[in-house]
Amino acid sequence: MTVSRIRTEIDFSADGKQVGWAHLPHSVHESAYGVIAIPLAVIRNGEGPTILLMAGNHGDEYEGQVALAKLIRRLEPGQIRGRVIILPAANFPAAMAGRRTSPIDQGNLNRTFPGDPRGTPTWMLSHWIETVLMEMADIVVDLHSGGSSLDYIPICMTRRFEDAAVTEACVAAVQAFGARYAVLMDLIGEDRTTFAAATRTRNRIVVGTEMAGKGTVGIEALEIAETGVQRLLQHFGIWQGAPLVAMPTEPPTLLEVKGVEHYVYAPDAGVFESFVDLGARVVAGQPAGQVHFIDDPMRPPALAHFRGAGLVVCKRLPGRVVRGDCVFHLASEV
Ligand SMILES: [Zn+2]
Repeated sequence: MTVSRIRTEIDFSADGKQVGWAHLPHSVHESAYGVIAIPLAVIRNGEGPTILLMAGNHGDEYEGQVALAKLIRRLEPGQIRGRVIILPAANFPAAMAGRRTSPIDQGNLNRTFPGDPRGTPTWMLSHWIETVLMEMADIVVDLHSGGSSLDYIPICMTRRFEDAAVTEACVAAVQAFGARYAVLMDLIGEDRTTFAAATRTRNRIVVGTEMAGKGTVGIEALEIAETGVQRLLQHFGIWQGAPLVAMPTEPPTLLEVKGVEHYVYAPDAGVFESFVDLGARVVAGQPAGQVHFIDDPMRPPALAHFRGAGLVVCKRLPGRVVRGDCVFHLASEV
């Protein structure tokens, strides 16, 4: 069986504004014939491109969820041409719990693609998102933030495809988004379990973000997310009439995240003291920080080093670490 069991009363082919829910069957002790109701909006006006706007892929990443909830209330069919599909809290149980992963099945939605229509809720969701929503879309947008454990410089992201024309369209889209930094990730050979990787087989234009984080709603990050989404509607000709926000006058700094050399992990368990902040430019071999052993004060701290050069775009928040926690990641100019 490959057909999704997630159902909605929303008619994706109808003109107008429909705001409702997608219903994921969830028969449990407390609710025998129950469903999980996942907020969904479709705003359509005639022929034109379809854009899928998604947030809450990780439940504790709030800027995108807030930006898309605002857009659902604001956007009217008369303002657009084509179709805007909005899924503001994709992994809904995780979003309601304020957690990265689902409290029901511990699923990390962005590690479950292509999903499973007969799996647990998170796997059913990724299958539905890929085979139903992504299938209908020309452009897919996945708004992330750092969440509870990370802080990011607000960045827009896209992927490099085998098809150069798709890559070019993706780069033009992140340039239109208007964040100061744009990251070009290598999709070729990427883990198939992410939302972005799922776009590869369908050659969809993909835009992602990492908007601050810290488990809160950043003022600047929310503004970048809201204006960026509006600019995408304008860039793709979905928005009709006078632009609501000005398009960026200069292109973002284009960055790439290389392999393991761009990540720094805690070398031991303890309290991590970082030596640099977000936005720092570092060189290979530079000390990144050290882990202190508070229970054994005479023991020398364990040093962690940057293995590559670049800009610090992401930093871990909690001071306590265990070996294997990501404490920094870098990006470097393309
Ligand atoms: Zn995320």
